Amino acid sequence: MTTFAELGLAPDILRALDEMGYATPTPIQAQVIPLALHGGDILGAAQTGTGKTAAFALPLIQRLLPFANTSTSPAKHPIRALILTPTRELAIQVEESIQAYTRHVPLRSLVVYGGVNINTQIPILKTGVEILVATPGRLLDHVQNKTLLLNQVNTLVLDEADRMLDMGFMPDLKRIVALLPAQRVNMMFSATFPEEIRKLADSILNSPTFIEVARNETAVTVTQVVHPVQQERKRQLLAHLIRSRDLNQVLVFTGTKLGCNRLSNELNKAGIHADAIHGDKTQQERIKALDAFKAGSIRVLVATDVAARGIDIEALPFVVNYDLPHNAEDYVHRIGRTGRAGASGEAISLVSEMETRYLKDIEKLIGRSIDVVIVPGFEPGAADVPAYESHPPRQRERNGRAERPARGPAGARPATPRDALFDAPYEPRDSARLDSTPAPAHPLPRKKQVAALFRSPVKSDTPG
Ligand code: AMP
Repeated sequence: MTTFAELGLAPDILRALDEMGYATPTPIQAQVIPLALHGGDILGAAQTGTGKTAAFALPLIQRLLPFANTSTSPAKHPIRALILTPTRELAIQVEESIQAYTRHVPLRSLVVYGGVNINTQIPILKTGVEILVATPGRLLDHVQNKTLLLNQVNTLVLDEADRMLDMGFMPDLKRIVALLPAQRVNMMFSATFPEEIRKLADSILNSPTFIEVARNETAVTVTQVVHPVQQERKRQLLAHLIRSRDLNQVLVFTGTKLGCNRLSNELNKAGIHADAIHGDKTQQERIKALDAFKAGSIRVLVATDVAARGIDIEALPFVVNYDLPHNAEDYVHRIGRTGRAGASGEAISLVSEMETRYLKDIEKLIGRSIDVVIVPGFEPGAADVPAYESHPPRQRERNGRAERPARGPAGARPATPRDALFDAPYEPRDSARLDSTPAPAHPLPRKKQVAALFRSPVKSDTPG
């Protein structure tokens, strides 16, 4: 097995890696580092969790070693490497890694991102930094304010390029690239490669080497499961899974900010400590929630895709897709949060009838089918939903379209206070016993289309 030393890294960098407990390079590191040390452009297909940050950061740092100095003159510390990320969270994490990797070399780094007062970033920029990690919008703010110069940048890294595209950063990226010296090394990483990403790569990279880490390299340790369930019973099912399986450190994805807040509030009301992160939360709120989640003082973090992007939590055990993403590639990103660095993880998707079409796209993209497990008492085709389990159809947040009413009895449905949905006594149907043991797993034959489960009352065939 290759070692970091064999990849050609300098002693001061090796010492930092050793102190951080990095014993051997990950596959993407083993492939990218030797090439990038020689200054070749790289197009990397890798998602978070593969070790891609060190893959681009270590060679970048080593190539800057000749410029490392302890001078106090700002002029001696121009920006030489620029790393762009789609979100502040990822920017912060990347810069934290760089700080750690450069702990034994006099290279300076800084992270700049939007959502915080720009004036606090200016004094540090003025002292000079060799490595700048930035989100595109805030970087351009600084360019416009003339608080930084990019004319000595010799290395450009675009991290999670597909997400930058999704977030509408393409025009910003083009403006930034136009400000850089033509002579430079470029590295671009993306988990997915839609047409526009390939075009971007063509326009920025110079005869790049394409390095691919198998899409499911990290996912092999991730168990994926689909629980078909009626939309209006998802909250109850989630609370049930968390309680009955005693799940902790659960990252839950919702499709909208509103849904994210609502779910977090309702979990709290049900006595399950949760917090929400999404684009409308301030940076401070997001950091606070993330820290509390990492420290284990909150059990569930409910997040939107954008806010969760780049979150790196060591060995996150559970990811729940409360709403299935409409974009199959988001699914890959989401489940990339779990099963890190060889640790096992579980990706649980709660799938309503109207979401089954997204499931098909996801399975096509990941190239395999996901086990479908009906949780007893939450059968998708349940015809005799007890009154307390239903509530009147509410307006869907997305697209302002009305949510389709629940299937089931057309009879009277007394409006139930929301938290009662959690607290209602729970009577499993079909005499299936549900106690503190996990819901029995009984994957259905794949021939049975998930959508069909919603149309016929399917009984959960509890094994034994
Ligand atoms: P990344 O994909 O860059 O977000 O890295 C995922 C996680 O793996 C981070 O917590 C890194 O600190 C960690 N990591 C990266 N490379 C290694 C390595 N070679 N050995 C052990 N941990 C690593």
